[in-house]
Amino acid sequence: MIQVEDAEKILNKIEIKPAIEEVPLLEALGRVLAGDVVSKIDMPPFDKSAMDGFAFSSSDKSPAYKIVETIAAGDIPQKELKKGECAKIMTGAMLPKGADRVIKREITAEEDGFMTILEEEKTLNVCHKGEDVKTGDLILSSGALIRPQETAIIASMGRAAVPVYKKPLVGILTTGSEIVEPGGELRQGQIYNSNAYSLTAQVRHMGAAVEYGGIALDDKTGIKEQVSRFFEKVDMVIISGGVSMGDFDFVPGILEELGVKLYFQKIAIKPGKPTVFGTKDETVFFGLPGNPVSTFVVFEIFVKPFLYRMMGFSYEPFFIEAMMKQDYKRKKSARTAFLPVMYRDGFVETVEYHGSAHLYALSQANALLKVPAGQDRVLKGSTVYVRQV
Ligand code: AMP
Ligand code: MG
Repeated sequence: MIQVEDAEKILNKIEIKPAIEEVPLLEALGRVLAGDVVSKIDMPPFDKSAMDGFAFSSSDKSPAYKIVETIAAGDIPQKELKKGECAKIMTGAMLPKGADRVIKREITAEEDGFMTILEEEKTLNVCHKGEDVKTGDLILSSGALIRPQETAIIASMGRAAVPVYKKPLVGILTTGSEIVEPGGELRQGQIYNSNAYSLTAQVRHMGAAVEYGGIALDDKTGIKEQVSRFFEKVDMVIISGGVSMGDFDFVPGILEELGVKLYFQKIAIKPGKPTVFGTKDETVFFGLPGNPVSTFVVFEIFVKPFLYRMMGFSYEPFFIEAMMKQDYKRKKSARTAFLPVMYRDGFVETVEYHGSAHLYALSQANALLKVPAGQDRVLKGSTVYVRQV
């Protein structure tokens, strides 16, 4: 059995070479940029008006200004303004020569082809060429996660496609002769499959793709067949259940028979002790304990950072600083615990939790509280850092 931190070290040492592909901009949403984006243009590309109003020279203090042309967005101004002249201009339109300010329409009067200023205004209402971004500026670095904001700025640079890391394909296999798919009928001794659903949701939530292998009965051949099939196709295999000490827990043995190099088979974590990790060639394997809270927690702590790395992204979990609202105590402290907790208004409350099968507790929680191995209590009033889930 190894400590949580040692398992993390082992996983971090596994070398990953994510592949790159060029995709249309909108397909890059949620993906990770695989090259720098450098601007080929100035933004804005020309001095432009920030208001609907009148453009003229700030040094021109004439009592009234002759309107010599009207400039709409997209027009090229035809006239150079002289003293006593202005151009009627729309938001986003190019400033004419001889103008360096725009007065907004609301504080002017227009009569017989002349504009007069009713109220002075300090702002120039001009967006200057290159004031936001200059040609050659680094806009986004390789490794950036593409959110709607990034999509917008890439589009504004005129780029229609970007290089991103390829989406890893994750093969998910559920084991257990007692497991029934939701929608089916539950006979005595059976339970519904929740792990394939939580795992698929967790993987998809990260923007990776899932190939679902269904439920394998607890017999060696079925599991082995499906795992071998995955081999050819997927980048990561996640197997739920069948990894612990029972007579029908075949997964570690099957992986070894298939030539998978196992790095660990037990982690000092609660929930989630019987967690298996191995590699064969470029494919990685996680065998997760079947209990639903264990599956969820082990994915969050170990699989998620690894999968993000396969996606080219260096993931940092989000920790919230909070104060314990009540005492937490435990009798055994050999393992690092991750407890489902509720963070609210600066405080953390533990939720009623019966152990690793208690999915309802997870649904009542929005964070995990890590209690390190060797620590048997977290006292009311102490500061903790909980991990958002
Ligand atoms: P195992 O790791 O296979 O020994 O399973 C541990 C516990 O988790 C057992 O009570 C299983 O019935 C339960 N379990 C296993 N797989 C699933 C699943 N896909 N969905 C919900 N519960 C499961
Ligand atoms: Mg099982």
